[in-house]
Amino acid sequence: MKIQIKNAHLITMDDGKIIENGCLCIENEKISYVGDQALPDEDFDRTINARGAIVMPGLVNAHTHTPMTLFRGYADDMTLNDWLFNRIFPAEDKLDTEAVYWGSLLACAEMIKSGTTLFADMYFMSESTIRAVLESGINANIARCVTGTNNDYKDRLYEAEVLYSEYDGANAGAVKIDFSAHAVYTCSKEALKAVAESAAKHNAAIHIHLSETMKENRDCYSQYGKSPTEVFRDMGIFNCPTNAAHCVFLSENDMEILAENNVGVSHNPISNLKLASGVANVNEMLAKNILIGVGTDGTASNNSLDIFAEMKTSAILQKGIRLDPTLIPARKALEMATATGAEILGRGAERGQLKKGMRADVIILERNAPNLIPVHNPESTVVYSANGANVQTTIINGKIVMENRELLTIDMDRVASGVKDAVKRMGI
Ligand SMILES: [Zn+2]
Repeated sequence: MKIQIKNAHLITMDDGKIIENGCLCIENEKISYVGDQALPDEDFDRTINARGAIVMPGLVNAHTHTPMTLFRGYADDMTLNDWLFNRIFPAEDKLDTEAVYWGSLLACAEMIKSGTTLFADMYFMSESTIRAVLESGINANIARCVTGTNNDYKDRLYEAEVLYSEYDGANAGAVKIDFSAHAVYTCSKEALKAVAESAAKHNAAIHIHLSETMKENRDCYSQYGKSPTEVFRDMGIFNCPTNAAHCVFLSENDMEILAENNVGVSHNPISNLKLASGVANVNEMLAKNILIGVGTDGTASNNSLDIFAEMKTSAILQKGIRLDPTLIPARKALEMATATGAEILGRGAERGQLKKGMRADVIILERNAPNLIPVHNPESTVVYSANGANVQTTIINGKIVMENRELLTIDMDRVASGVKDAVKRMGI
């Protein structure tokens, strides 16, 4: 299918290039033209007249647990430990594959509606999440999360290997399978080592939680005499491309280890604030050239999947705690949520920018939304003024999956009743 989007205010994220009255063409799943020349409408199957609206790359959610939409609002205002061990883990024990499917499909709907076109997921019963991903048409890095402090990690790792062999590259590359070790406090050293070895054997990437709380660091020091970063490094995790979520409590040395090993960081400011975990030192990590994307984390600790909110929070939080309003300017926040997010998920060569030859993951914002006019600086408009509900149209791999706020691949009535039934069945 050939699509032309004309009269667009293009934010390309390609070397900061912005085209005020631009045109973007899509041929099948790829971008075929980005520039200021509109072409004859008859050369296309569809021409969308953006009439001056902002058109930009789809957003990247670098860390989430999609089925946790089922627990949205289920456990709020609690400490992470209490929240996780007394509320979330017992509820997760009641999940079945159908519930995971409905929770995942709900998350896909929410992400498409708020302009996210690629996400990194860490969970279990991942085949059900993949089913939702394939149905919705969204892009995802899916990881079957490994936990275990005895031999019980082995079955989980086996599932991860099966998932990799069956689904890596599915739907013409929309699905990428990663490996995952949940965290230093839920995995034994043997489990971490086994995950690293499996991922290396498959040339795959690894998704982890790293130094989310002070308690995690303290316990790790008393157990191993090392920081979580040092333990992950010593177990070989960083021999594979790694996406490390949170990184709230890193020492100078930890940051140097991440930089040396090209570990990408997914920054989840809203989840970290809500669970009162702390604030990651994004500014210092950026100074060490660590690549940082943004994530929402699961909806049980956020409680939304709106990456616009993460972008804004990422930018204003560093300014606020360092008393310096020049930190994390709008372009940097936008870059974290697009090009860099794609890069840390191993997708940077084909996603995250509006550029000829790249995959057509494109969003169109609402024209004339009261909160979006006037546009003095489109990057500021997106980061500081916009929210997910301003996304009018979402295109993923050249396919329109939402137009004028209407989901075209997901039936929301069906999702809502599936989610309600799942929650009822689980008795939560
Ligand atoms: Zn998480």
